[in-house]
Amino acid sequence: MTKVRSRPPEGFPKRRARARRRALLLGFLAALVPLLILLGLQYRWLTELEESSRVAREASLGTYLDAIAKNVGYGTWKEAEWSLSVSATALKPEYEGKLAKHFTKVSNELSGSRTYFVVSFGDPAKISLYDFETKSMVKAAESPRIQAFYAAAVPWIVRGRMERRVEKPEPEGFRDDPEMRLMIRPLVDDESRLVGLAGMTLDPDHYRDNVLPSAFEEVLGKQPDLVATVWNQRGERMIGPEDEDSGNRERTIRRLPKPFDDWKVSIHSPTSTPEQWARANFLFNLTLSAVLALVLLGGIGLALRTASREMHLSEMKSDFVSNVSHELRTPLSSIRVFGEFMRLDRVTDAAKVREYGEYIETESRRLTQLIDNILDFSRIESGGKVYHRELCDLEELVAGALKTFEVRLRQKGFRVYLERPEADEPLLLNADPGALVQAVCNLIDNAVKYSNGGQEIQVTIERRGDPETGEAVVSVRDHGIGISREEQKHIFDRFHRVGTGLVHDVRGAGLGLSIVQHIVEAHGGRVDVKSDLGRGSTFSLHFPLEPTGETVDEEKP
Ligand code: ADP
Repeated sequence: MTKVRSRPPEGFPKRRARARRRALLLGFLAALVPLLILLGLQYRWLTELEESSRVAREASLGTYLDAIAKNVGYGTWKEAEWSLSVSATALKPEYEGKLAKHFTKVSNELSGSRTYFVVSFGDPAKISLYDFETKSMVKAAESPRIQAFYAAAVPWIVRGRMERRVEKPEPEGFRDDPEMRLMIRPLVDDESRLVGLAGMTLDPDHYRDNVLPSAFEEVLGKQPDLVATVWNQRGERMIGPEDEDSGNRERTIRRLPKPFDDWKVSIHSPTSTPEQWARANFLFNLTLSAVLALVLLGGIGLALRTASREMHLSEMKSDFVSNVSHELRTPLSSIRVFGEFMRLDRVTDAAKVREYGEYIETESRRLTQLIDNILDFSRIESGGKVYHRELCDLEELVAGALKTFEVRLRQKGFRVYLERPEADEPLLLNADPGALVQAVCNLIDNAVKYSNGGQEIQVTIERRGDPETGEAVVSVRDHGIGISREEQKHIFDRFHRVGTGLVHDVRGAGLGLSIVQHIVEAHGGRVDVKSDLGRGSTFSLHFPLEPTGETVDEEKP
């Protein structure tokens, strides 16, 4: 008899698995290390960014404040420019009426001013006031207010005396005391010589109640999280929340332009200081980076796992091809050799002829079983496996399966015990008889293959639970090599074969148990195994006594 053997060395699958795990780990580390470096760098950048974003936040608050100051200053300047656009000739007594008319018009249209006046730089300088009641210009009597006007005019009078020319006579602010906030405009003759001054006093209440709030609205309208605060010359809060803590946050401060330059404005966010804002940004970015890194790592892990699985599957497939070729080649060689003996009339003894005939029968049965398994497996994989169900007696099916093994079991000296505790009542199942026989045959085949000298097999058929809803159980028990706990989890996987020990010398395609499991589950049942390494195994097929309602031709992908 020819035997072809080119099996991989013992422990080979385990070594391969170890190598695969190592490659997986290396791949993971190769991705993890740069990722950790990147994360470290990212952390450093983010801490730097935190500092610069704090500065940027303060700068942006400063920009808003500048815009507010500019808004207020420009509005005041614009109004003064228009209200005080008085020509030098208007200072002459004969034009007083005209001047009064101009201020009447201005006072009707402007609400933020209190007094209008002109100073003519004669010797001595003279101040005329606009009288709101009589709507005419009147001589000013000596008063603190007039003192303030003089104070504002003095630098211009000096310049006038020094015959300084003013090409562009523009308005400017002047503050004497908190109540005396003036806008003044120099008046020049045709040759740009200073001849006088026009001025007006501004109403601080109007600025507090109208001008500043509308400037805030204009600048901060789209920044609802920012709040403005204004302090007056005594450091009292005029506008803004009476929030105890806000003082700590209001560090970005600006003075308003003249004549309100003793008022200070600040803006802040009631929810956070620039530091807190920058920290929150930092934490948000850091979390985002960490989440991204985790997702990336998860993706890499998943990709590596899939690659490793694919490798494992392709290893199993190539093992399968080599196993199946062995499985086919050995019985075929035996059949050929025995056939040749018989053709050449080398065996004349009737007993020998029967013996050889039995060998040929056993080997061809094994071939048929193997081919049936392979075909079934391909049908199961493609989802085309169909079970034709009918009412059948479980005991008859098991006996039929044992019958097919009769010769082989006898040849190998096996003792088989069929136990049926309650033989009086038949155990009827609505099942595919061929499939059930195939499942039992696969178990018996394994019990023989993995017996390791323990040539005894017990097959038990029993009913468990109550007669209506209980289950029918077929168990095949051997006293062979047994299966470790760890391996028990995998033996029902397709192509899986235990990788070490005696099992290496046993032929197999790694499909038998996966087909058993499929058949049993397709009948609404389950398969389980109890095994002790070196002591033997018991495989049990559990079928529900009332199958789940399916009757014929049910397809189980
Ligand atoms: P095969 O027997 O063709 O390898 P199976 O799917 O029938 O494939 O079995 C898968 C594996 O389970 C076997 O390779 C063997 O390692 C283990 N096994 C199955 N039945 C037994 C048993 N009765 N005793 C010990 N090991 C077994």
